[in-house]
Amino acid sequence: MKILVLNSGSSSLKFQVFDMAGPELLIGGAAERIGEPDSVPDHASALEEVARRLSEAGIEDDGDSFNAIGHRVVHGGEAFREPCVIDDRVIDTIRELSPLAPLHNPANLLGIEVAKRRWPNVPQVAVFDTAFHQTIPPRAHRYAVPHAWYRSHGVRRYGFHGTSHAYVSKRLAKELDRPLDELNLIVLHLGNGASVTAIANGKSVDTSMGLTPLEGLVMGTRGGDIDPGVLLHMASRAGMAIDEIASSLNHESGLTGLCGAGDMRDILAREAAGDDTARLALEVYVYRIRKYIGAYVAALGRVDAIVFTAGVGENSPDIRERACGKLEALGVSLDDARNRAKTTGARPIHAEGAAVAVWVVPTDEELEIAQQTRDTLPP
Ligand code: ADP
Repeated sequence: MKILVLNSGSSSLKFQVFDMAGPELLIGGAAERIGEPDSVPDHASALEEVARRLSEAGIEDDGDSFNAIGHRVVHGGEAFREPCVIDDRVIDTIRELSPLAPLHNPANLLGIEVAKRRWPNVPQVAVFDTAFHQTIPPRAHRYAVPHAWYRSHGVRRYGFHGTSHAYVSKRLAKELDRPLDELNLIVLHLGNGASVTAIANGKSVDTSMGLTPLEGLVMGTRGGDIDPGVLLHMASRAGMAIDEIASSLNHESGLTGLCGAGDMRDILAREAAGDDTARLALEVYVYRIRKYIGAYVAALGRVDAIVFTAGVGENSPDIRERACGKLEALGVSLDDARNRAKTTGARPIHAEGAAVAVWVVPTDEELEIAQQTRDTLPP
C-alpha cells in the first residue's frame, strides 16, 4: 500500500509518498511560493507539479498507484476526535472551523479540493493537529472566562502538534516494549514552534498550546504564556491595533523578541561568544520548559518518561541538559555521555537507576499522518 501525504499551506504544498510495507519514504518535496511571479499561480497547478514529480519517480499518475491521500488539517475543533474519510460534510465542518485557524484551515481545504478534483477515485483522509488532544478533560481545557465565550465562540484549549505527540508516544511505547495505555509521559516538542504535552495512560490530558499556537512555551517567534493584561496595556497605552498586536505576538516575540534571533543554533553560538541577550533568551526559554515539567509532574502524579523531540529536542544536548538540570528531586537525572553521544534515532539519555526515564525520540509527523490515514480507510 502506498499513501500520499499532503500538507497544504497558504503558499506551499508539501508532499510525501510512503510505502506502508516498510514503512518507507519513497519521495517527498514541496511546491513553494505559490502565487508568486517565479512560481506556479495556484494550488491546482502546484498539485500538477506534484503529480509530475510522482510520475518522474515511477509512481504512475493514473490514480491507481497510491491507495489513499492523507491531508494534514490544523484545526478539528471539538468536531474531530479522530482522523476521518473526507466527504462533503467533513469539508463543510473544516470550513466552519476556519475562524479558529484563519490562516491554516482555508489553505488545508484548498489542498483537499484540488486533490479531490485531480484524483476523484482515491479515498482521502483528514488528519487533525488538534485531534490527539481531544481527550484533555474540561478542568484542563476550559479557560476561566465568561461561559458565553466558550459556548458562542469556541474559546477553550485545543492544543496542536497532536500528530507529533501521538507519533512520539507510540514510538516510545514500542521502544520500551510496553503498552502505551500503561504509560505516563511528558513529551516536549521543541522546534520552531514548541509545545509540551502531559500524557496519562497513553492519552493527552494537558498541553501547553491553547485556543491558538500562541500559548505555552517560548518559541522561535512566539512568546507563549503571557498576562492577557499586557495586550490590553499595549492597545490602550501604546495605541497598537489588533492586527499589529497579532503580528508582534506571532512573528516578533519569543526568542526573536528577546534576542533578535529565532534559530536555536545561532542563539547558542552567540551565547558561547558572550552575548548577554542570547544568554537571557535561553534562560527564559529553559525556565519556561522547567516550569511546565514541574506542572505536568503534578498533573500526572507518576511520570514514566520525559521525551524530547523536534529540531531542538532531538539535536541539542545543551538544551536537554539545562531543561533537566536540578530536577533530581523529581527523579530526573541525565547521563552526560548518553545525552551528548552523537547518535540519531530513539535513545535513552537518563542516568542508570533514575526514577524517571528520559528519551530522545525523533518525530515524523508525515509518517504518522500516513499511518493514521491507512488505519482510517474502510476495510
Ligand atoms: P519546525 O517547527 O519548523 O518543524 P524544527 O523541528 O525543524 O522546526 O526545529 C527547528 C529548530 O531546531 C531551529 O531553532 C534550529 O536551530 C533547531 N536545531 C536544529 N538542529 C540543531 C542543533 N544541532 N542544535 C541546536 N538546535 C538545533
